[in-house]
Parts: sequence; C-alpha cells; structure tokens
Amino acid sequence: MIQITMPLGFLGTVYREIRQALVDMGEMFDLLHQPAEITDAPDAKPLKVTGGAILFDKVDFAYSPERPILRNVTLDVAAGQKVALVGPSGSGKSTIGRLLFRFYEITGGAITIDGQDIRKVTQESLHEAIGVVPQDTVLFNDTIRYNIAYGRAEASQAEIEAAAKAAKIHDFVMSLPEGYDTQVGERGLKLSGGEKQRVGIARTLLKNPPILLLDEATSALDTQTERDIQESLDAMGKGRTVIVIAHRLSTIADADRIVVLEKGVIVEEGSHDALLSRGGRYAAMWAVQKAEEEAEEAASGPDAAE
Ligand code: ADP
Ligand code: MG
Repeated sequence: MIQITMPLGFLGTVYREIRQALVDMGEMFDLLHQPAEITDAPDAKPLKVTGGAILFDKVDFAYSPERPILRNVTLDVAAGQKVALVGPSGSGKSTIGRLLFRFYEITGGAITIDGQDIRKVTQESLHEAIGVVPQDTVLFNDTIRYNIAYGRAEASQAEIEAAAKAAKIHDFVMSLPEGYDTQVGERGLKLSGGEKQRVGIARTLLKNPPILLLDEATSALDTQTERDIQESLDAMGKGRTVIVIAHRLSTIADADRIVVLEKGVIVEEGSHDALLSRGGRYAAMWAVQKAEEEAEEAASGPDAAE
C-alpha cells in the first residue's frame, strides 16, 4: 500500500505545483500582457510624468459590446494623492486598473496622466510609469536577487539591498545560508505568502514608479501578516500617486478619497469620515466589516472560549 500511495501522493504534489504555476502565470499575464490589437499611435511620444495626476474623464467601457461594464466614470486623482476604490465583487474595480495600463481601449471618454491622453503615448513609457503589487506575486525559478531585480536587470547589489531593506525582507534574506543567491520558486526555497509579497514590494520599489496600483495586494494574507505588509505598502506610497483597490476597508480609512463603485457606476465618494456620516453604501459596508473583524478577534483572542 505504502509503495503505491507514496508515488501517487508525490505526483499529486507535482500536479498541484504545476497547476499553481499556471495560475500564477495567468495572473501575471492578466496584469502584464496587453491584448495584441492595442498598438502605439504612429506619432506616440513617451509619457512625461510631472507629478502623476490621473484623470478618468467620463469613461465608458465594455469587454464586449453587448455588456457595458463602466458607465460615465469620472475619477480625478491629484498628483501624490491616495484614492481607494471599493465596492462589491464584479463592480469594475480591477477593470479600472487594467484601463489605466491601456490593456483595453475605452469606448467613451478619456484617460489622462499629467494631461496626456494615454492613447497618445508609447505603451512602454506608460507601463514604466506604473508599479503594481498584485495579490499574488509571481516568483521565477531563480535567485532572490533575480526576483527582486526582475525588470531592472542593471540594478546594482546596493540598490537591490536598499529595496529589500525598505520592503523589510533584507534581514530574512541575510539569514539564509546563500543570501541573495538562494534559489526560490518551485525547485528552490518556498516563500510564505507574506515573504512573496515583500519580494513583490522590493521589486516595485526598485522600479521606482511615480504611480502605484495596489489591487487587493494583501487580501491573500492572514490578518497579522496583512498588517505588517500594510506598513510597507503605506511607506512605499509616500510621494507617489496611489490607486488602491481595497478588500479590507480598515486599510484605506486614511485615503485622501474613497470611491464606491457599484455595477460600473460611481455611487459615492469622499473621505472615510464624510462617507461614514453620510450613512450610505460605504457606511453600511464599514459596519458589516467591523462586525466581522470583531467576531474574528473575539474568536482568536486570548480570552476566546474553548
Ligand atoms: P472587481 O475587480 O470589482 O471585482 P472586475 O473589474 O474584475 O470587478 O470585473 C467587472 C465586470 O467585468 C465583471 O462583471 C466581470 O465579470 C467582467 N469582466 C472582468 N474581466 C473580464 C474579461 N476579461 N472579459 C469579459 N468580462 C470581464
Ligand atoms: Mg478585482
């Protein structure tokens, strides 16, 4: 029995890893790969980022003509501001992020960065300007150094270490016998969800983009790890324009503005305090999450019933 079940169990593990790798690749392409039909305008110029102000001006969008997704979305993010997008699953939050990268063409309105229509700039310069920390950071089967420097192969060891320190992963890396030469990924050291996120943060810090897009960057982590990572993300946002798609509302209460989406339409916007006193959709979502968090803490706290 044992001789039969062991190899089968092993195959199961390999299968799960391959499947996970495919999922990770899928997510990476979701963010980094643009559909082939989108090409640079013949006279496209490099985007010139002066402060990183983003404007969605009456944007309409549909993935397929028969099903409109975003309707008349106007989103004005001043340079250096942090704006949070919240709303039920399927309301169009991630779509807004994809449109900022111009992975799809909008059907109405315009999207500009520092006054330049993103259809008139080179896609390379557009992608250069925006950093993403996705929900699941993709690790390549290579060294930690390679994984942090990915996208900036010319980075020096000093630059890599500075990014790793800011992302609070340097001490962990130095505790490994092979340090930055440690192999990670499927064949190497398995990193925890929080460690992978820190590699992702270090990678983004090294890219040093003026605009940051955080799409539920911490939702795959446990509460404590999420709080730790949140500090690193907050520090990374200083001096940049940040659009954060939030899962846990407590992480975006400090945003300059919170925008509530529902079925592709902005239904409310304002500061956390303004939205709470308004007593609308956001206030209701906040009440639900607070009750959930309190229940969670009561269940896991030191005085929890056996
Ligand atoms: P959210 O991030 O708020 O959960 P999304 O922006 O991912 O929502 O999705 C908004 C709507 O667009 C959903 O109804 C979703 O099913 C649809 N959608 C998302 N991606 C695609 C796609 N690639 N093709 C067609 N429809 C999509
Ligand atoms: Mg989403």
